[in-house]
Amino acid sequence: MSVPAVLAELRAAESSCGRPAGSVRLLAVTKGRSAEQVRERVLPYRLPLGENRSRELEEKQAALPGQEWHFLGTLQRSSLRHLLGVTMIHSVTSAGQLEFLARRAGESSPQLLLQVHNGEPQKQGADPDQLPALARLAAQLQLPLQGLMVMAPAGDLAAARRVFARTRQQALDLGLGVLSMGMSDDFVVAVEEGSTLVRIGRRLFE
Ligand SMILES: *Cc1c(COP(=O)(O)O)cnc(C)c1O
Repeated sequence: MSVPAVLAELRAAESSCGRPAGSVRLLAVTKGRSAEQVRERVLPYRLPLGENRSRELEEKQAALPGQEWHFLGTLQRSSLRHLLGVTMIHSVTSAGQLEFLARRAGESSPQLLLQVHNGEPQKQGADPDQLPALARLAAQLQLPLQGLMVMAPAGDLAAARRVFARTRQQALDLGLGVLSMGMSDDFVVAVEEGSTLVRIGRRLFE
């Protein structure tokens, strides 16, 4: 696959569920790929780029300047301060992280998404019932909270659909507009369930 092939599938998915063309953004997930691969295969299409480890993000930011970067990985105290220059952090899960961001970044904080736990024990994320309190805290701290991110359970599209639909409802309840949902294997279902931003890695490179 290539970026144009994935974009064509994305546009087809939008159209088949009656959504306007271009209403879902494609985030190219570049983790595990060399800067050279990213330069050749992705940069010509001017997409935002996503990484899930801060070290790798820093290396690629240095090698590929001038890109829009998003961070998708587990947030650790030690790495959070290296992430203040990205455009969006998709993986905020706690009050402590919001407080750190307010202290260290304030008004210039990256845009933020709360990552929602999907029910699988090994996955990270905030429990759904914590979301209102986290959203309230973000508002009090005047942080730019934009929406929710979720990773669906792998290998079960019916379960993925339920997780996406529930997350969409949670975002609606909180009045948040950005829904970061959908990866290589489940992005069509995510678009059908209201995703506004799909995060695709493998399919762009294989
Ligand atoms: C790796 C990753 C993706 C992309 O997954 P693919 O299956 O390669 O498309 C999306 N979101 C997150 C949080 C990831 O870590």
